[in-house]
Amino acid sequence: MTTPSRATTPPAVVPALLPTVGGDLQVPLVTGGTVRYANLDIAASAPALHSVAERVAAFLPYYSSVHRGAGHGSAVSTAAYETARQTVAGFVGARPDDVVQFARHTTDAFNLLASAVPGEVVTLDVEHHANLLPWRRGATRTVIAAASVAATLEAVAAELARTPAALLAVTGASNVTGEILPLADLVAIAHRHGARIAVDGAQLVPHHRVHLAALDIDYLAFSGHKLYAPYGTGVLVGRRDWLEAAPPYLAGGGAVRAVSLDDVTWAGAPTRHEAGTPNVVGAVALAAACEALAALPDAAQFRHETDLRDRLHEGLTALPGVRILRLWGRGEAELLGLATFTVDGIPAGLVSQYLSAEHGIGVRDGRFCAHPLLARLNGGATAVRASIGVGTTSDDVDRLLRALAELLRNGP
Ligand code: PLP
Repeated sequence: MTTPSRATTPPAVVPALLPTVGGDLQVPLVTGGTVRYANLDIAASAPALHSVAERVAAFLPYYSSVHRGAGHGSAVSTAAYETARQTVAGFVGARPDDVVQFARHTTDAFNLLASAVPGEVVTLDVEHHANLLPWRRGATRTVIAAASVAATLEAVAAELARTPAALLAVTGASNVTGEILPLADLVAIAHRHGARIAVDGAQLVPHHRVHLAALDIDYLAFSGHKLYAPYGTGVLVGRRDWLEAAPPYLAGGGAVRAVSLDDVTWAGAPTRHEAGTPNVVGAVALAAACEALAALPDAAQFRHETDLRDRLHEGLTALPGVRILRLWGRGEAELLGLATFTVDGIPAGLVSQYLSAEHGIGVRDGRFCAHPLLARLNGGATAVRASIGVGTTSDDVDRLLRALAELLRNGP
């Protein structure tokens, strides 16, 4: 993961870094009229980049049977699908022998890995349900993240030392607090205790480059719909041996070498786990998004998102009665461009409804598929999350801050 140095003074106006589809969408207000949609729900699903939409449109005329057809369209579709695999491998710095498995999303990718893991799994309690529930098919243990990064690392090390595990599965960044986990330390701890490490990159990968080989991460999963590509495509990248040894994730055509009436010889990974006609359009779109992010000038994305993040955090902190949820103390961990907060005396659902109906601002309220963490950080109550990406502008953030100030002044 690369973390370029911070810009010192955030600029007064921050335009979108890359154009996204729907960036100029007008939405209705309850008071009448329309307003430009301020989409501050990027962490849930990020709108597609224009370059992704263009790549999909250019591919659609070739839409044909993949891997099997003999026609020109099939050849193009097959090449596009397999090239997308290579693009993804390059984007995340995969090792030459790693497998890139296309899946439906991060949840699917971790369910696939759960079907291949040969032993116990250790997770943290900060995880999204996608990185908690799949492991419960087997033996799993959960470490409660401590009040500091150092104490959390100690707790993980102690748990792995107490009872060996096959896998440590941790998020790269919390979808609730935006805090980035100390991956290099966690990799070292896992490996020191004979475990592999799987990183849930659903939030981290769209915002920071993650290099598997450099960081020595064994498995990485992420979702296309959070990486400026459409829904329906995710990825699991990582070590080949477990995936080769596991039973096929789905049984069916495409995953086999030979079938007789009473026997089957399964193919090796990745095709072993990709039975059925694959989502070629999704793979093409995801690869286009990877290319667009990789082509950004060095540190441009980091600067864009940290400028807006600081504006968001400083603005929220200045509002009386607004509390930002955090795992650790300020400055302990680098933060993604998001903030999950509560507003004293006003339920989260009401805050988000008000922002949408009165101001055309999209945020998310809820427990963010991280019930154990919300139980710990917010007594189980819901909260509001605002999140930013390459298409976000300072105007979006400023509108949110003004709307919240108005809500605090006048009530819902
Ligand atoms: N992990 C994290 C950290 C997430 O934020 C999410 C989605 O919100 C997921 C996993 C699950 O992603 P998907 O719904 O694409 O499987």
